[in-house]
Amino acid sequence: VFITLEGPEGAGKTTILQLLGAALEKEGHRVVVTREPGGIPIAEQIREVILNKENTAMDSRTEALLYAAARRQHLVERIIPALEQGMIVLCDRFIDSSLAYQGHARGLEIEEIYSINTFAIADVMPDITLYFDIEPEEGLKRIQANNHREVNRLDLETIDFHKKVREGYQLVMNRWKERFVLIDASQSLEVVFEQAKQSIVEFLHK
Ligand code: C5P
Ligand code: MG
Repeated sequence: VFITLEGPEGAGKTTILQLLGAALEKEGHRVVVTREPGGIPIAEQIREVILNKENTAMDSRTEALLYAAARRQHLVERIIPALEQGMIVLCDRFIDSSLAYQGHARGLEIEEIYSINTFAIADVMPDITLYFDIEPEEGLKRIQANNHREVNRLDLETIDFHKKVREGYQLVMNRWKERFVLIDASQSLEVVFEQAKQSIVEFLHK
């Protein structure tokens, strides 16, 4: 089962992901917890290029292609083998991040980004996607409070960019409704985690 976690900056995806991984393992599932861009060495190297603060000359289409390339390699090396072994794959971000960030927020068109990504993923779509919704102002406040986080090129973006990201996610959710579960990430960590876990348990018993 392929599960992805999506949402704007500061929604708590990474924290919830770790908690979900531990909870599912405790229930006897075999779980792979991973992230994008990255997850395996080649894709982590691409991540470095994409997120490096010095790379201010990065063109939007180059950026979109690099994300798709990192996604491809991670899929082939990590996600597909785990799915073939019957494991649950929990992935921090996937195609929907590209649709929202590169597609909508960067103004490249969601459909165009979808089309380069269909080349990259060749039909491997998530079975279920948890979308952690939060107001950009609130999310960015949380990020600023978390000084362990690496500073990246996206931190130079304006609040308007992050508002477009959230708007992009809303468009993506409307287009691929069946796959999405919407979670209000402004609630406490405990509540967000319980709702996320519950939606996965329900999906697994379907
Ligand atoms: O997952 P995380 O928040 O650590 O992602 C690292 C950075 O990459 C974030 O600033 C995120 O906004 C950005 N990103 C992006 N487009 C993607 C995936 C991530 O701009 N497709
Ligand atoms: Mg994160």
